[in-house]
Amino acid sequence: MINKIKGQEDALKLLRKAIENERISQAYLFYGSDGVGKFTTALYFGMAVNCMATNELKPCGHCDSCHKFLQLEHPDFVYIFPTPNLNLSPEGEIKNSDALKMFQKYIENKVNTPWADFFFKDTIEIRKESITMLSKHFELSIHEARYRIVIVEDADMMTIATANAFLKTLEEPPERTIIILITERIQKLLPTILSRTQPIYFRPLTRSVIEEILTTEFEISAPIARTASRISAGNLKTAIRVASDSVSLSRNWAFEIFALAATKDDLGYLGLAKAYKDQQKKDQVIDLLKYIRIIASDLGALNANFEAEITNIDKIDDLKAMVENKSGIDDRLYDFLLFLEDLNRKIEGNVNLNLVMTNLYLNCKHLLNS
Ligand SMILES: [Zn+2]
Repeated sequence: MINKIKGQEDALKLLRKAIENERISQAYLFYGSDGVGKFTTALYFGMAVNCMATNELKPCGHCDSCHKFLQLEHPDFVYIFPTPNLNLSPEGEIKNSDALKMFQKYIENKVNTPWADFFFKDTIEIRKESITMLSKHFELSIHEARYRIVIVEDADMMTIATANAFLKTLEEPPERTIIILITERIQKLLPTILSRTQPIYFRPLTRSVIEEILTTEFEISAPIARTASRISAGNLKTAIRVASDSVSLSRNWAFEIFALAATKDDLGYLGLAKAYKDQQKKDQVIDLLKYIRIIASDLGALNANFEAEITNIDKIDDLKAMVENKSGIDDRLYDFLLFLEDLNRKIEGNVNLNLVMTNLYLNCKHLLNS
């Protein structure tokens, strides 16, 4: 199962050694950007030290213990993450039925589609009541596991009061207990917490690792996987989102804009603007610009006869048609990319999106036709 974690060989090596030499720390800090496998590794590590398989690479993923961990319902597993106020009791019960439903939805998402972000409606933080629940848990003896496992996700999202309460549990953890903190923002953690954990860095995933995961585990076609891996900047969650249908729409949109810009079809562009009126929202336009950037780079590469560098290999014929009988695209590309960066900043600052789109079209036209 551990082979499912890709691109984190250094982190896995450290953890494997700790198990082999029986030198497991009481508290770890897994840090690194979002969507690179920190939670999965934490969970699998907890499973590995508790796995009941005798002759397999641990965790096996199907013994009773592994099964309970995978469902996030092992009695010796405590999972803490930022939530709205759930009125959690020290025993870990949620009495309010709406709050309970919300909590269960979160867990369901985490078990079934861990790559999809889950958004609570209200503001979230790691609450003091979660730490109270944890201390209560620590007073009890371990039910059945070899090691009790605690995962604290987004550990930086504790208020000062929560962090101080947590520090007490970290100072005197009970025996046979492993606490794993996870964060994307290590600089936000209290130094007193940092100093009590063993830090393990998780690197951004390489493009080829993301491509491999998308094609083998999500059965995404090679060209889409290739584009998604380039856009995602090492974040698997983003890559999966980009590869999903809603964003392919942005990709088509971007190609249509370039096709019209190539033939200077201004009237056609007005029609297109009308057709995509509903898509013209801040987030979608930001997605669109990512595709525009990659297609522009492809056009520049084609124009300079670097066909091997093309990302959108499935659209090679369309791209070739756009650059036919044109020259100097690779020379104008740099300015165009600067323009896109500037446009991105403007969109973040709430500029009129109609103006943005018109400006974008005109600049695409200029890129392709001197
Ligand atoms: Zn197992």
